[in-house]
This record gives sequence, structure tokens and C-alpha cells, in this order.
Amino acid sequence: MNVMSTAARADWPRNPTRAVAIGSITIGAGSPIAVQSMCATKTTDVSATVAQIEALQRAGADIIRVAADTRADAAALAEVRSRTSANLSVDLQENYRLAEAVAPHVDKIRYNPGHLYHHQTDVAWADKVRYLAEVASRHRCAIRVGVNCGSIDPAQRAKFALDDRLGPMLASAWEHCELLDRLGFVPYCVSLKDSDWRLVVEANRRFAAARPDVPLHLGVTEAGMPPEGVLRTQWALQELIPQGIGDTIRVSLTVPGHRKHEEIEAARKILNDIAAGRRVEPPPDELGRLAIVSCPSCARVENEAFVALAEEVRRLARFAESYPITIAVMGCRVNGPGETDSADLGLWCGPSRVNLKRGGELVGAFSYDEILPRLRLELEALIARLEDRGGKNAPA
Ligand code: SF4
Repeated sequence: MNVMSTAARADWPRNPTRAVAIGSITIGAGSPIAVQSMCATKTTDVSATVAQIEALQRAGADIIRVAADTRADAAALAEVRSRTSANLSVDLQENYRLAEAVAPHVDKIRYNPGHLYHHQTDVAWADKVRYLAEVASRHRCAIRVGVNCGSIDPAQRAKFALDDRLGPMLASAWEHCELLDRLGFVPYCVSLKDSDWRLVVEANRRFAAARPDVPLHLGVTEAGMPPEGVLRTQWALQELIPQGIGDTIRVSLTVPGHRKHEEIEAARKILNDIAAGRRVEPPPDELGRLAIVSCPSCARVENEAFVALAEEVRRLARFAESYPITIAVMGCRVNGPGETDSADLGLWCGPSRVNLKRGGELVGAFSYDEILPRLRLELEALIARLEDRGGKNAPA
């Protein structure tokens, strides 16, 4: 059970972050904390993308992110821009070279340091960042350096112990900030996201202690389906925001496209609770229970059945609720393989098959009809191993 408690309302001592303009709003420098979400439509489906942007705006979104991974996405984004005045951020995903084509149509560019290794492997990541900063400056775009636990810069990953999740994330973020500083690029913010809300708290605390001037975008990645996804995000944000950490937030939820507005409503409610001094405490046995983490889906989703599959996995796994097991369900091959590595069981969805993993090891690829019975077998085997090792309190 989640317990709501009330502390004295605090005036948040906001960190002295620099002001970063994103279209008509500003984050940082004491501005109200901005709320954002991301379209889960195919960007090339311009009507559906514009409709989702409008639904998010009606719910109160300050910034809306759209993915661009192909030239067709970039062309569609230009069309989207002509039909909305929303503050738009573009997620470059793997294809940083699209920056030049999309920057004229957006207010912010988000890149992931780990993804800069995917294309043009003969070009140094620093040269790619130099190019992105130059394009962003020319088109008056802000930048977000979006560090994500499942797609860490491999050069940083190699410098740390395998079980150190925070070290490479922080080193990667600091390294990119230093380069942007050297380049004289000022309007940037940073995000450090993990699917474990406790690590989100620790990563952002440590980052903000070293760089209190850099605005932070807060969120828990793969937070999952509501209500769990909302709660995990609230547990993290209620630790950070009252300490002055955080300038913009996203609640990432696995919901069908017509319910995306729930991300904005959840974010506003969390901010209101924090402002009123209301906390929601995690259950004392939270770490010893089944956790299903799942991505919020985006334009990269390879099969629309992904959201329904995540819901079916939650139903199927109910019998394992009292075991310390994590199951990850991811919507595509961009982040799916990496972000399922740290789960006990992971599913990442392709167009017609679902890849099933046991830790870092691939069990096989199964059709959407076959995957649930196969997952059940794996889950039962995992529980049997746990019982052999001493029952529910044994680490999975
Ligand atoms: S894992 Fe999910 S949110 Fe991440 S890129 Fe793939 S579909 Fe989008």
C-alpha cells in the first residue's frame, strides 16, 4: 500500500540554474518547472502527430518531443511545424546527421551520448557534438544531453565496474557539459534517467552538486504503466524537487496513444503534491516485489501491439508478485536490447517477433502469440531457482 503523508509546505530553494529558452517558455533560473511529454505516433503520420500534440497541449504540456530518425521524419516534422505553435523538441535517436534538416522546425534538440556511436563510427563523438552545437546555435535551438541507463556511451561504460550504473552516466554527462562549455554553447540542459527511481535520485543529486548551473530534466525511464509508473516517478521527484533540483519533468507512461495526456496530468499532480508538502511513500517491501518496467513508446515502436503486450505481461506475472524479480518490456530495437540487460527477464518487440532475454542472454525470438506462454515458463523457472536459493528474499 502507498502511504500519503504531509509535511510542512516548503518554499523550494531552487538551484541557481541558467535560463534556457525553449520556444515560448524558459526553463531554469527560477522559472516554473516545465512539464513535457513525447508523441508516440509515427512522425510521418502528420495528422496523427498534430492531433497528439494538440491533445498534450490541451492537457497543459509546456514542451512536446517528436522523434526524427529518417529523412521522411524530418520532412514530416516541417509539415507538423506548419500546423502547430507548440514548443517542439526533436529526439534525434540514432541519426544525429538529421539535425540540419530538423533544427529550423523545432525549439530544442535532444541527443543521447550513447547513440552518437551508432552512425559514422569513424567520426569522433566530440566532432558530432561540435556539429550539433553549431546547427543548434544557427537555428536558436536549445540542446538536451539525454543520458539513459540503457544506452550508455561505451567508452565511459568501459572505465567503470560492470555493476556501477551511476559512474558511467555521470561521467558521460559531465564530459558532454565540458565540451559544450568549451564550444561556448550555453542553452543546454541535461537528463540522467534510469528505470530504478532510487538511482535517478542519486544520479541527479550528484550531478547537481557538481553542476548546479545546468538545468535538469527529471524523469524515470521505463517507469511503466500507471499507477506504478506514476508512483515510481513521484518517489524520485519528491526527493529531488524540494532540494531545488529539477527544471523540467516528464512522467513516462506505457499507455495507448489516446491516453498520452495522462503523462501531463500525472506530472501536474506530482508537482501540486510536492508544492503542498504531500508525499507518497513507497511500500516498505518495494524492493522485494515484482517490478514490471516498460518504455513509454514513441515513433520507433515496431508493432502497435506493444502496449497491449505490456498489459498482458503484467496480468500474467501477477502470480509472481511477491518475488524480487524485474521484467522489462521495450518497444523497439533502438533501446530494447540495452535496456533489457539489467532486468531478470526482458522482452523487446520487433515487427513480428518478440525477443525474450534472461538477463543479458537472448533466449529466443517468439511470435506475439507464442511469447506469453514462453515467458510464463521462464518466470516459473526463475521462481524455482529463487526458492532453491532460499526463497523470496534471495536475489534473483
Ligand atoms: S524503447 Fe520504446 S521509447 Fe525507447 S526508442 Fe524504442 S519504442 Fe521508443
